[in-house]
Amino acid sequence: MKTIYTADHHLHAPKAELSFGKFVPPQESPRRADTILAELEQRKLGAILPPETFDMAPIHRVHEAGLVDFLAGAHQEWSARFAKSGAEVPDALPLSWPVPGMRRIEPRSIFGKLALHAIDSATAITATSWSAARAAADVAMTAQQRVAKGERAAFALCRPPGHHASAANYGGYCFLNNAGIAAEAFRTGGAARVAILDVDYHHGNGTQALFYARPDIFFVSLHAEPETDYPYFSGYADEAGEGPGEGFNANYPMKRGTDWRSYGPALAHALGRIRIFAPEAVVVSLGVDTFERDPMGRFKLASEDYRRMGDMIAGLGLPVLFVMEGGYAVEELGVNVANVLEGFEQAAR
Ligand SMILES: [Zn+2]
Repeated sequence: MKTIYTADHHLHAPKAELSFGKFVPPQESPRRADTILAELEQRKLGAILPPETFDMAPIHRVHEAGLVDFLAGAHQEWSARFAKSGAEVPDALPLSWPVPGMRRIEPRSIFGKLALHAIDSATAITATSWSAARAAADVAMTAQQRVAKGERAAFALCRPPGHHASAANYGGYCFLNNAGIAAEAFRTGGAARVAILDVDYHHGNGTQALFYARPDIFFVSLHAEPETDYPYFSGYADEAGEGPGEGFNANYPMKRGTDWRSYGPALAHALGRIRIFAPEAVVVSLGVDTFERDPMGRFKLASEDYRRMGDMIAGLGLPVLFVMEGGYAVEELGVNVANVLEGFEQAAR
């Protein structure tokens, strides 16, 4: 399986994130993608290729212009506010949020704009974050094109990740929804139906929101219950889609402590639903923060379980685009990701 990768992910390296009331080094760091790349190279899983450059059209098909324009110019506006003082410009983070009952009119103030577009305080914007986000979308699009042109599978080693970003909002370490952009690109390229399987520990609220009212893109997510885990306000089992999209969204929220004994059957059920939907391509939002020693997740999957996951996904017999999402146990991160891909390859042969 070929991997699409660019070192441009290093352009997004914020100094800190706000976590449990403290500024701490971000969990979502460049080391993550470096570790995965090193493991893929060592196992010789397949060629590692750079992305092509795409124009903004695939991004604009899933994101509102308001978000895209904001992200492209946010840090410049932010740093202008610090120019007079001569102080070092910190990374841009929001200070407040427009809760229901308030107006969602974009203010002129950059502080207000951050409040309007961000969903949390974990996702700092640096001077070059936008370049990294654009590059990650190019990585997803390049891998998508290879699958659309007939390759059985490809891996988009995207960073920053994407599944928490919706049409108008960024957050959860995500700016552009790489998996959503790729799924939409399959549709634009002529696929009648596309499924997205999200196996990240956290609910892919952004991806769900993008396609919630659509019957042509089936979003299926296995994740931690929103009662206990981020993003807290979506991911319940009764979120089944709306309007023409009713029945084309499926959530499998699971308890903290879930191990393969209950995860495996849930995944089998989710794959069964995808089989019935009969998509022409599957996008896998590949998060491995379900790992037993992940510092952010509380599931108990072991490294070997990721081979089983890849094996089961291959059992669909469909073209698959893997798109990297979360996973923060940096020591084992590469092993767990490579196990999914190798498990897939061995079963697909
Ligand atoms: Zn996650």
